[in-house]
Amino acid sequence: MNIHIEENIKLAPFTTMRVGGNARFFARVNDVDDLNEAIIFAREKSLQIFILGGGSNTLVSGDGFSGLVIKIEIKGIAYKDNRVTASAGEMWDDVVRDAVSRNLRGIENLSIIPGTVGGAVVQNIGAYGVEAKETIFSVEAFDIKKNEIKIFHRDECEFGYRESIFKKNKNLIVLSATFELAQHSTPHTDYEDVKKYFEDNEISEPTLSQIREAIVAIRTKKMPAPPVGTAGSFFKNPVVSAQKYNSLKNEFPEIKAYDQGDNTYKLSAAWLIDHVGKWRGTRRGDAGVHEKQALILVNYGNASAEEMLSLAREIKNDIKKKTGVMLEEEVVMM
Ligand SMILES: Cc1cc2nc3c(=O)[nH]c(=O)nc-3n(C[C@H](O)[C@H](O)[C@H](O)COP(=O)(O)OP(=O)(O)OC[C@H]3O[C@@H](n4cnc5c(N)ncnc54)[C@H](O)[C@@H]3O)c2cc1C
Repeated sequence: MNIHIEENIKLAPFTTMRVGGNARFFARVNDVDDLNEAIIFAREKSLQIFILGGGSNTLVSGDGFSGLVIKIEIKGIAYKDNRVTASAGEMWDDVVRDAVSRNLRGIENLSIIPGTVGGAVVQNIGAYGVEAKETIFSVEAFDIKKNEIKIFHRDECEFGYRESIFKKNKNLIVLSATFELAQHSTPHTDYEDVKKYFEDNEISEPTLSQIREAIVAIRTKKMPAPPVGTAGSFFKNPVVSAQKYNSLKNEFPEIKAYDQGDNTYKLSAAWLIDHVGKWRGTRRGDAGVHEKQALILVNYGNASAEEMLSLAREIKNDIKKKTGVMLEEEVVMM
């Protein structure tokens, strides 16, 4: 066997939240052969597998993981006309930066989201009015059960809000994704913060690199930097019926929500946590709610996984009690 399997490896340093216990077994894979060997190792020992990318949306439990953690480090970026194919282990923002430098449009609003290409596909990442699924042309994935590589066209990926077939079906490991970008397309600059940025800077027709600069500037102002001690948005924005939205609107006239056009509304979880729960800036020891972004839970130093989860539970119970709405985690629990 060529692949090096390590034992009892601390997982906290492999995640941006920086909490949690050890992996019983840990392997870094650089190509499909490595991946095959790792899977055979797990099969022979009847171990569960957890696929790890950049660990920027994963919370490791205090007990760690008793199976095999496979860290995807498969690299490679290739261009063909307006399409870019990036391997799952490439850092997402390297792909965005490179695409922007080649004047290829479509993913610039997703600038500086931490993590890997694999994670971006699995989570169908989104920001500033754009989701990854809009430019994904196809995804190449390894099916552990069938022991085969399959290409999923965009329509087969079952993308939803922070959802995909790769998230639902744990047998699928993303190997690479192909993005269909464009040299000319209408930029998405109508999102509140982005619009304001260009107004303030008196830019009426921003270039592609100006859009990336804007996103980078807006995000670095808002988000904890560097992205350590957080996993980004801890909860998803809850979707409710129009009827539920109207009753909440009566009680909380300022409520922030997005009309999805299908008789449902996506509520701003950050607004609920901030204005209904008054949680922004709250600390329980080293576990806290970010001072500027109520949706971001922060490990300020030595919080344990259990302390982070306990704070999350408190917030969920409080919002449920006050609004009847149950928040759901965006962060993946290992
Ligand atoms: C400061 C900060 C800001 C953020 N901002 C945003 C934002 O604006 N929008 C947004 O959508 N997200 C945001 N996130 C969340 C996170 O960056 C994304 O979800 C990212 O795509 C996760 O990628 P990762 O490689 O780190 O995934 P990981 O955390 O390693 O894994 C996430 C999930 O994907 C699975 N997975 C990872 N790679 C593969 C693979 N190759 N095959 C199969 N499964 C895999 C894991 O098993 C896990 O279930 C933010 C996070 C941080 C820390």
